Amino acid sequence: MLIQGGTVIDPSQNFNAQLDVAIANGKIAAVAKDIPANQARKVISAAGKIVCPGLIDIHAHVYEGVGIQGLSPDRGWLAKGVTTVVDAGSAGYTTIAGLRKYIGSTSQTRVHALVDIGTLGLVAGISGTMENMAYVQPKETAEAVKSNKPFVVGVKVRLSKAVAGSQDMEGLRRTREAAEAAGVPMMVHIGDTYSPLRNILDQMRKGDVLTHCFHPEPHGLLDERGKILPEVLEARQRGIVFDVGHGSSHFGFDVAAQCLQQGFLPDTISSDLTTRTAAGPVFDFLTTLSKFFCLGLRVDDVIQMATSNAARAFDFGLPLGTLRPGSEADVAILELRDGSFAFTDSLRKDRTARQKLFPAQTIRGGKLFEAPRG
Ligand SMILES: [Zn+2]
Repeated sequence: MLIQGGTVIDPSQNFNAQLDVAIANGKIAAVAKDIPANQARKVISAAGKIVCPGLIDIHAHVYEGVGIQGLSPDRGWLAKGVTTVVDAGSAGYTTIAGLRKYIGSTSQTRVHALVDIGTLGLVAGISGTMENMAYVQPKETAEAVKSNKPFVVGVKVRLSKAVAGSQDMEGLRRTREAAEAAGVPMMVHIGDTYSPLRNILDQMRKGDVLTHCFHPEPHGLLDERGKILPEVLEARQRGIVFDVGHGSSHFGFDVAAQCLQQGFLPDTISSDLTTRTAAGPVFDFLTTLSKFFCLGLRVDDVIQMATSNAARAFDFGLPLGTLRPGSEADVAILELRDGSFAFTDSLRKDRTARQKLFPAQTIRGGKLFEAPRG
């Protein structure tokens, strides 16, 4: 297969140029100028479009049919440029094997997962999984991580009051115990926590991921005057990953704008897309990326956050987020349209951008998927 004439943006190789991409046997064979088409069985014209590594959404919910929030990865992500999703804690240690068996191994999308430290995961909805500490078992969680690697890439904990009540620090302690025992990072969900952010960051190590970083609720990244907390800057220095995790209530344009104005960009942009947030304000992954055009980021920036940066966040067991020859043929062909596009954040505040990303085609392991019309 040959993808011809597109603008290849591959931050892992510092590419932003008109190049062709050749694919053979499910792998990237070459990225170069004017690759002859005579050997290709299929030629896709990408003229006027962007060709980039298949996008990676590190905060997704794909456990369809278990709980009410799981959205099919192939329907919600794959045809829209996303080739890899990380389910962020829909399953706990008692249900993770089902996520692997019934979703991970049956989907065309590459699916990985974080095991929720709360046994129930999202089975019982958002609330209460950590109010009863009998449901928070680090040893069993660590065992479930180990026996489901490399499908499982980390441990998830949700620290909002609605989930953890006043026990967020104990929940975090148990999560860290599980993550350390299993040798994986943890993803920590913040927003309206009982404890201040500095206490939470203090328990996080290099490689751990803080998700919902631009949430507009109490205990965020900013102090009362809108300045980034010194503990946040220090956490970035230590190698903690700051992830967007948009979700229903976790992304505020104003907070994000204040952080970006102070030079604090997210490491990764993720959607936290579910059956519910697919109806808004998240809609899908490309909409989430495009929201950052309202805040001054460029297309290269958001593609880097959704490819090479996201690939580094977890150990996926193989190189992803790159078009290097020999790597998996996971490719997104996107359209960057000009116009006036309105976007809404979690507080239902609107901003407009002059550009928006739309899906055209996705290639996953060398197989082609057409974007839905619209
Ligand atoms: Zn989530």
